[in-house]
Amino acid sequence: MRKQIAAANWKMNLTLSQGEQLLKDIQSKPHTLGANQLAIFAVPFPYLPMAQQQLAGKQNVFIAAQNCYSKKSGAYTGEVSVEMLQSLGISYVVLGHSERREYFQESNQFLAEKINICLEYNIHPIFCCGEPLSIREANTQNAFVAKQLEESLYHLSAEQLKQVVIAYEPIWAIGTGKTATSAQAQEMHAFIREQLTAKYGAATANEITILYGGSVKAANAGEIFGQPDVDGGLVGGASLIADEFVAIINALK
Ligand code: PGA
Repeated sequence: MRKQIAAANWKMNLTLSQGEQLLKDIQSKPHTLGANQLAIFAVPFPYLPMAQQQLAGKQNVFIAAQNCYSKKSGAYTGEVSVEMLQSLGISYVVLGHSERREYFQESNQFLAEKINICLEYNIHPIFCCGEPLSIREANTQNAFVAKQLEESLYHLSAEQLKQVVIAYEPIWAIGTGKTATSAQAQEMHAFIREQLTAKYGAATANEITILYGGSVKAANAGEIFGQPDVDGGLVGGASLIADEFVAIINALK
């Protein structure tokens, strides 16, 4: 069975003490993670050691970075390497979030390089894809997402692909309060799985966790996660509120 994941994406929010308090609050509220369920916290770089410490020893809980650089090391002032993340014990990295694609011009090709270096260091990429509103309105979202998958992932072997988590995040639903309907989410997730099946075969495609992201909250998580091809969520705003995120964890199937 595929892993079901509730992933928090704090983005560029919270001070160190606020972040620490949030993790304490989340831990103090009743939640259960089954054998197949993970909670992942993608926190800002400077908070990685704090989060590791706060959540040390917790079963099925992992800390993620929100980005990394594509080169091993060297003269890249301000960047963070995968080797650095590995040395902290980090095992997941969010890559290709639409905010990075838009504000930092990250291309599918550049993301392919980042994915490669993550896999070299045994770090799982959480690869984000998803279309802007104009593409959805033109009803060409399938071709748009297919191209993102093809250009960033399809050079991987099946074994490598199995290390990747995919997050489908329609850009028009991120931070807007406008969630895709559960039917729209299911339709795209099924399409993504179909594409992976065509390229890698059904056995591999059925093992890939595909998260939905875009205004997931306690009130809609159950319905969205209940869709057959939705394996959890990548959560921004609601992950900053302990009660909300705990309810989202508890909504995993
Ligand atoms: P949101 O963000 O939950 O605030 O819409 C999701 C994301 O950008 O990962």
